[in-house]
Amino acid sequence: MNLPKSLESLIEHFQSLPGIGPKTAERLAFYFLKENKMQAKSFAQALEKVSEDLTLCKECHNVSESELCSVCQDTSRKQNVVCVVENPLNLIAIEKTGYTGLYHVLHGVLNPLKGVGIDDLYIESLLKRVKKLYALHPDLEVILATNPTMEGESTAMYIKRVLRSEDMPNLKITRIGRGLPTGGDMEYADRSTLDNALQGRVEF
Ligand SMILES: [Zn+2]
Repeated sequence: MNLPKSLESLIEHFQSLPGIGPKTAERLAFYFLKENKMQAKSFAQALEKVSEDLTLCKECHNVSESELCSVCQDTSRKQNVVCVVENPLNLIAIEKTGYTGLYHVLHGVLNPLKGVGIDDLYIESLLKRVKKLYALHPDLEVILATNPTMEGESTAMYIKRVLRSEDMPNLKITRIGRGLPTGGDMEYADRSTLDNALQGRVEF
């Protein structure tokens, strides 16, 4: 016997998500079958709302409900420091430390094994943005806050090389890191560890 088409389709959709294998996809699909229909409906609506209402900020690529995210809209934030993070969850983690500068979200790290290259990340737009900001703020600092993983390190190294190849002699480039467990994700670091790592950032 084959599964009904609609159920098969749902399983395939779950399986296409990051980190979901075939067994988990089946379990999730059957969960919705067993639970009441209202829950499935509200889940579908939440998904629809996210895809319709959320976009990426055109400046920093943070998730946003409008063209510019709330960070970029807030002109009271420091405009002479840009913290480069892998994803919006890392941005939220750093935001909790009380950091008041700007961000730039890469949406990933370089990972040749997974086929993630330079053009898959927002590196080109980072360079453009840094040049623009540097023209306004010659004391500009770029904090490379990718995670202390192998991919995070090589991405930070690459970005540093790209930024240093431009004529911005006074640009300060720093790297977050002290105290963060190697191989970990800052999303799971507690606030004081992350705050220490940010305060103790070093010239890179
Ligand atoms: Zn933004």
